[in-house]
Amino acid sequence: MSDCLFCKIAAGQIPCTEIFADDDFLAFGDIDPQAPTHILVIPRRHISGLSDLTTEDSLLAGKLLTRATQIAADEGLNSNGYRFVINNGQDGGQTVGHLHLHILGGRSLDWPPG
Ligand code: 5GP
Ligand code: ZN
Repeated sequence: MSDCLFCKIAAGQIPCTEIFADDDFLAFGDIDPQAPTHILVIPRRHISGLSDLTTEDSLLAGKLLTRATQIAADEGLNSNGYRFVINNGQDGGQTVGHLHLHILGGRSLDWPPG
């Protein structure tokens, strides 16, 4: 999608701190980190959010989760734990309309979220 911030990052048109890249996914540091480790993992293909996933996206959605667990392990987060967050829609706090998974770690995280 031409006017999508994360599509532009995936296309290299906007710089990011790249953590991981392959044909399906890009992971990069959040510009406004909420924890010592705060990484965003996005599919390269534009999907607006969780609500737009279809059964045809099942493999991609599964890969998103397993890829993110590998990145968390590579970042050294397994010993103390971490959290994945996918905000969806207005009430979910989604501010960028391209599916993304937050990896948060490196500090004790509060629960429940606000
Ligand atoms: P959301 O609120 O949609 O779940 O998460 C969007 C995230 O994208 C926020 O944590 C925000 O800090 C991050 N973000 C917004 N613009 C940029 C950007 O240009 N570069 C990077 N690396 N992160 C961004
Ligand atoms: Zn997009």
